[in-house]
Amino acid sequence: MRVLVAEDEPTLSAQLCAALADAGYAVDAARNGREVCYQGETQSYDAVVLDLGLPELDGISVLKRWRSQGQTMPVLILTARDQWHEKVAGIDAGADDYLTKPFHMEELLARLRALIRRSQGLASPTLSCGDLTLDTRSSRVSLAGLPVNLTSHEYKVLEYLMHRPNAVVSRAELTEHIYAQDFDRDSNTIEVFVGRLRKKLPAELIETVRGLGYRLVPPA
Ligand code: CA
Repeated sequence: MRVLVAEDEPTLSAQLCAALADAGYAVDAARNGREVCYQGETQSYDAVVLDLGLPELDGISVLKRWRSQGQTMPVLILTARDQWHEKVAGIDAGADDYLTKPFHMEELLARLRALIRRSQGLASPTLSCGDLTLDTRSSRVSLAGLPVNLTSHEYKVLEYLMHRPNAVVSRAELTEHIYAQDFDRDSNTIEVFVGRLRKKLPAELIETVRGLGYRLVPPA
């Protein structure tokens, strides 16, 4: 899952990026509103953390522009304390949730997990496909109750597929959602990760749809 952190305050931005990377997200950061707006228009994000008080173009304007263009990614806004009207304006502009500064990082992470699963129509923090379960809170995967050890990239690929049950996901889409922008991407590595996942999980679980991509298939 890939997240954009739109925050101009350097310390908070660094803390957010570190916490999100620790939680297994691919993270891009942008500090001014124009850059944030451009990133959201040109990159694929599973969620955005958007500070409303951004230089050059404020967060509400960025959000209104994205929504008017049909961008539907979940957006969690950060508002200053005691600015209740900002929350109302933000939600009316298309935000999905908000947090008031200062906030606890754990709460932000929990809200983001909820926004991301809800955006895919999933209600539970534990995702399952047959015997396979993935707990988005602990990043743990188990098969028939037994833990499965995955590398961080294997986990990211599986997590993305499990958020899109029965959908065909292309290698390009996987590449866009498991790597941050500054990462040296190579869509061939996706094939490698899928190959390793097939060795650790029932091989038929990840189906190759020729010419299109991969699909997670629950056992018959
Ligand atoms: Ca700010």
